[in-house]
Amino acid sequence: MGISVSENSKADDSVTRLAEVKSRIGAAEREAGRAAGSARLVAVSKTFNADEVLPVIEASQRLFGENRVQEAQAKWPGLKTDFPDIELHLIGPLQSNKAKEAVALFDVIETVDREKIAVELAKEIARQGRSPKLYVQVNTGSEPQKAGIEPQAAIAFVQRCRDVHGLKIDGLMCIPPADENPGPHFALLAKIAREANVDLLSMGMSADYGVAIAFGATSVRVGSAIFGSR
Ligand SMILES: *Cc1c(COP(=O)(O)O)cnc(C)c1O
Repeated sequence: MGISVSENSKADDSVTRLAEVKSRIGAAEREAGRAAGSARLVAVSKTFNADEVLPVIEASQRLFGENRVQEAQAKWPGLKTDFPDIELHLIGPLQSNKAKEAVALFDVIETVDREKIAVELAKEIARQGRSPKLYVQVNTGSEPQKAGIEPQAAIAFVQRCRDVHGLKIDGLMCIPPADENPGPHFALLAKIAREANVDLLSMGMSADYGVAIAFGATSVRVGSAIFGSR
């Protein structure tokens, strides 16, 4: 009721594309000799509103990624009430003055990348009694404009998060430079994870999630290949 034909077909498109992405993830897992389901799909819904996300939820997708705390606060509390098994990932930079909101809303925070954020997260986790999973973002290409800890400082930072701030670090995340072959960046992230004793690897986006799965991604963050261009 009240849904125009064009909105309906847009929803059909995203559901069709979701199925295609899932099938390509399955193929990449098999090619890499990995177990089915070992690379999980985080559907990146940034810039799309709740009405546009709903068909994808109804098609049984449960992991979603957002890059802005405020946008997520406007979109997700209602959807999470209706679908309590949704797992919401923060994949964009976190300002320390938003740590409170981020801990309250997100189930996974993938962008821990500096001491100040670690301090604020530890404070909020203790205060709220809510413990999102935490990943450290690594700036594998050492790009000055990009968030993330420098690769050579990453292991010590993971250790400080654990030992000094009492945070459990479950994963690492990276966004390779847009104009480079992503493979070496994924390999570097996997190597740092092994040395830091971290299990989860968030890497790969619409253009390169197949490559990321070959390099051991345990989750891929796919937006435009599902929801269309932003
Ligand atoms: C937007 C975004 C994605 C998804 O990008 P697509 O190319 O649309 O798949 C993945 N990761 C991060 C950190 C993002 O900000």
